[in-house]
Amino acid sequence: MKNISVIGAGTMGNGIAHVFAQNGFTVSLIDVNASQLEKALATISKNLDRQIAKSLLTEEGKKKTLSQLSTYTGITAGVQNADLIVEAATENIELKLKIFKQLDEAAPAKTILATNTSSISITKIAAVTKRPESVIGMHFMNPVPVMKLVEIINGYTTKKEVTETIVALSIQLGKIPCVVNDYPGFIANRILMPMINEAIYSLFEGVAGVEEIDTIMKLGMAHPMGPLQLADFIGLDVCLSILNVLHAGFGNPKYAACPLLVNMVTAGKTGIKSGEGFYVYSAGNKDLIVSNRFK
Ligand code: NAD
Repeated sequence: MKNISVIGAGTMGNGIAHVFAQNGFTVSLIDVNASQLEKALATISKNLDRQIAKSLLTEEGKKKTLSQLSTYTGITAGVQNADLIVEAATENIELKLKIFKQLDEAAPAKTILATNTSSISITKIAAVTKRPESVIGMHFMNPVPVMKLVEIINGYTTKKEVTETIVALSIQLGKIPCVVNDYPGFIANRILMPMINEAIYSLFEGVAGVEEIDTIMKLGMAHPMGPLQLADFIGLDVCLSILNVLHAGFGNPKYAACPLLVNMVTAGKTGIKSGEGFYVYSAGNKDLIVSNRFK
């Protein structure tokens, strides 16, 4: 493994590209949106500076990492030499199926196709390719340069050698892999999203305010972040898509998304990336300020 292509340069794509580049891999970062690529390079540079400030990296290491990265707006040119492709585009099944058909045609036959999907069936994604045995879930956590876990998801058809390669690669990146099977939400989100949804329901029903809900879960359960702050951090649109997948996949009403979450996403209040969710965010302000709507 030497050449890695990352599809999608949003929240996760820039972090995945960062970690591979920092570990000596040649990375092609691909997005349909050129401004997202510029933003991703700026974010990677800023995050590398943070590592320098914490003495985790040298200026030389930063230069080397940035030199490992190239950007592309088209899939075909960006995957020609890929040993592994990690797809981290928007969480939308039609989009992912379209991307995997394109990747299957454009990438060399030996290339492993991985997806960073939070919840979409790996087996379904694999089925649109001519190499279903080489398709696997490689679910990084946010922020990727900081979080140790990689949830590795075996599709129904994933072959053992591919899983072993991705486990070894994750260890090479300094991560801790955990292998699970392909059922809706896998493990991380099957357990996390019902908790976030319940926190939103508690707010919606007026049981408690934003700060109270988050404080109770932080102090009472020793969570580093409350569920509403975490939802803002993940992206409320991402949370809603995952709940929809759980709901459809299990057919159980316990996974139905809270109407407040649906309203917030419809209104474009998707959390940190839009500047407002349960809290409001502005550049340079590190204080956690509850949105006026919830005061
Ligand atoms: P995001 O909205 O921040 O970024 C998605 C990017 O994909 C955008 O830059 C968009 O322009 C790009 N894109 C859309 N269509 C494309 C195409 N056809 N080709 C190339 N790029 C395309 O989303 P995100 O939060 O980074 O999530 C990406 C994936 O990672 C999703 O599958 C999500 O479920 C998963 N994930 C997210 C988190 C999280 O905390 N946000 C955590 C783990 C996994």
